[in-house]
Amino acid sequence: MDVIGNLNRLEEHIAVAARRAGRNPGEIKLVAVTKTVPVEIIREALACGANRLGENRVQEFLSKYQKLPPSVEWHMIGHLQTNKVNKIIGKVNLIHSLDRWALAEELHQAATEVGKVVKVLVQVNVAGEKSKYGLAPSETVDFITSTADLAGLSVEGLMTIAPWSANPEEVRPVFRQLKEIARKVEDKVTGSRMDYLSMGMSGDWEVAVEEGANILRIGTAIFGERDR
Ligand SMILES: *Cc1c(COP(=O)(O)O)cnc(C)c1O
Repeated sequence: MDVIGNLNRLEEHIAVAARRAGRNPGEIKLVAVTKTVPVEIIREALACGANRLGENRVQEFLSKYQKLPPSVEWHMIGHLQTNKVNKIIGKVNLIHSLDRWALAEELHQAATEVGKVVKVLVQVNVAGEKSKYGLAPSETVDFITSTADLAGLSVEGLMTIAPWSANPEEVRPVFRQLKEIARKVEDKVTGSRMDYLSMGMSGDWEVAVEEGANILRIGTAIFGERDR
């Protein structure tokens, strides 16, 4: 797998797509999704400047966190169990997967105990898929309103995972809706900051860029197909 070539091509391609959509490429952050990827390969990506890494399992994240340099900016993108929260506070830069109230409380408590504020995105299950985590679109405003009481938590935007589709055009409405929900939150929740829209993966990132994504989570297009 030509990780360096893939990464260079991808970054170039993202910049082209951003400009074509009338956007500044500099406002779009790439999170290289490294789940199942061995650290030797991840080091290649780091060497060519990919500094934001996304993991979806706590154990795997902790193991890589120990082996890789402290300059890495870590993103937790997977469903989080409440009993694992204290293992990652202070180590991850952004948690993309706040998907329920119990987790919000746990994150707040764990962060407060160590005098930190944890940055999170609220995961929204826009398409209402049974197999996916996340709030229903209709719950999102009330949920974020309630998090204002949790000082250990800083909600900085929204995340969604679009349904799988061979034709990324089909998921455009999902991305569009996430952006609309973010606007609604900014409108209705005083002091809310919807700085980030984390949406777009290997198969659909281009459409996500056109719909306003500013964090892309991309694995396969950089590291190749995963075994699991
Ligand atoms: C695995 C994963 C990705 C990356 O998916 P690719 O199709 O390999 O780019 C993005 N987001 C989440 C939440 C993931 O679990």
